[in-house]
Amino acid sequence: MNQEFTMAQSSKRVAIIGGGVAGSTVALFLAKQGVDVTLFDKNKSLVSGPPICHLHAGGNLYREISQQQCLDLLKQSIDFVRFFPSSVNVRPTVIAVPKVDDGEPFALLPRLKVLREAYRDLINEDADNNVLGSPDDYFYEYDYEQLKALSQRDCPKVPSSLDEWLIPFAKYTDLEQLKFPIYVVQEYGLSLFRVASSVQLWTEQLDNLHVRTGVVVDDIEPLESHYNVALDNGEVGTFDFVINACGFRTGSIDDKLEIKRQRLVEFKAAYVTKWESHQEEKWPEVIFHGKRGTPQGMAQLTPYPGGYFQLHGMTKEITLFDKGLVGSTTKTSQPELPQSLINKIDKGWPLDVQVARSKSAIRHISQFVPDFSTAEPAGKPLYGAQQIPGNEASLRTADVSFEGERYARLEIVKASSALIAAKKIMSKWFVQQPQTMVHTYSLDPARVQEVAMNIAKERGYPESLAIAY
Ligand SMILES: Cc1cc2nc3c(=O)[nH]c(=O)nc-3n(C[C@H](O)[C@H](O)[C@H](O)COP(=O)(O)OP(=O)(O)OC[C@H]3O[C@@H](n4cnc5c(N)ncnc54)[C@H](O)[C@@H]3O)c2cc1C
Repeated sequence: MNQEFTMAQSSKRVAIIGGGVAGSTVALFLAKQGVDVTLFDKNKSLVSGPPICHLHAGGNLYREISQQQCLDLLKQSIDFVRFFPSSVNVRPTVIAVPKVDDGEPFALLPRLKVLREAYRDLINEDADNNVLGSPDDYFYEYDYEQLKALSQRDCPKVPSSLDEWLIPFAKYTDLEQLKFPIYVVQEYGLSLFRVASSVQLWTEQLDNLHVRTGVVVDDIEPLESHYNVALDNGEVGTFDFVINACGFRTGSIDDKLEIKRQRLVEFKAAYVTKWESHQEEKWPEVIFHGKRGTPQGMAQLTPYPGGYFQLHGMTKEITLFDKGLVGSTTKTSQPELPQSLINKIDKGWPLDVQVARSKSAIRHISQFVPDFSTAEPAGKPLYGAQQIPGNEASLRTADVSFEGERYARLEIVKASSALIAAKKIMSKWFVQQPQTMVHTYSLDPARVQEVAMNIAKERGYPESLAIAY
């Protein structure tokens, strides 16, 4: 990097309010370029937001979104994997359409073909973009007979081909309930815990990145050429630029600055279960499509080592909640969730609710995988609220918006969009860099996992959720 840039950048001070995946990624990106960054978070550790588990490299979990959003998610996911190489769980995703669903499997095909070619183009542009395997293998189609044949084979401990990955799915899923073909896509998993540990390990190496955890930003005052940022402990700091990265609470800082902004906030949860009798098998991720918000809402089975499975079910008894989707009003830019949901975020869940919802999730999956009914709830749910800028609840790609010359807000919907936001901020405030710029920093994967396991334990989750799959 040009020395002049370093000098100019280091003389400007940036405050980032919120050290979730968005704020932390942007903080690392800017600090690595020599910008002086202070990152504030009210929690004890960074990247402690909602339970990210999917990379969404191609957005194939979402039938309803535009092809452009899928292409954006593909590109952003590749950048994200290059930035956080130890955070990925490398396993395929099965996309199945049940007979009870209105959709047709073939409807997915045109988009999958476009995504495969887009991935090929990205690799042709830069060979380091090859993070999802060969583009020729981006997706495959399996018919009923192929899966029936696979169901006769023994499950390998370590699958060495796509066929082998599919054996547990073929063996234990009630194939009679599905439409064919099913698609298998190289959409990987993403470990929130290993993103958190990568962030922690990097921040320890950067003298110009000042991390202040356990502090709430209480107030913010715009002055002519800077901002005063006030903390709940009485401290006030002066910064040239402020980035609002407060996640679902972004509107509260907008309100303090009297900025009107339309956004939605949604509370959701996923459940940790253990399928003791199947802990030797290595499952792919499995998505059974279904209409969101109905009793047949999409069911998702996300595998972890040791027989742990994270479950989503897009029904009101499982992942979604009554009044769990709210919007800002003419009075406030901060959408207000019902107090019962805020209590869940701030104080945790009553045990009976957590068990009841986990059991509903197990039942939901067992409609398609009957033996999954022997799985048990295995701890506290993974939950949180996220924001969606604007008023379109199905939006899946958003990054940064600017207000005046010195204030930006990060409004990502998927973790992978954090990096494009960082690049835009860098270009707007500091120096014009090519939009393709990505930095890969090597960390020892074993060390990343070790720290991630400690983080999972500290937060009350099984260590298995932090182990590379
Ligand atoms: C159930 C669920 C599952 C999800 N699964 C996925 C997935 O698989 N893949 C994916 O890509 N995305 C997923 N998402 C979306 C993803 O979690 C969000 O897009 C992402 O967390 C947004 O990151 P963020 O940094 O903007 O917000 P957050 O992660 O919420 O971080 C905001 C931070 O700001 C801090 N903060 C807020 N106000 C203040 C203040 N005044 N002072 C100091 N600190 C403050 C908070 O403590 C918090 O740490 C999921 C969301 C949910 C709810």
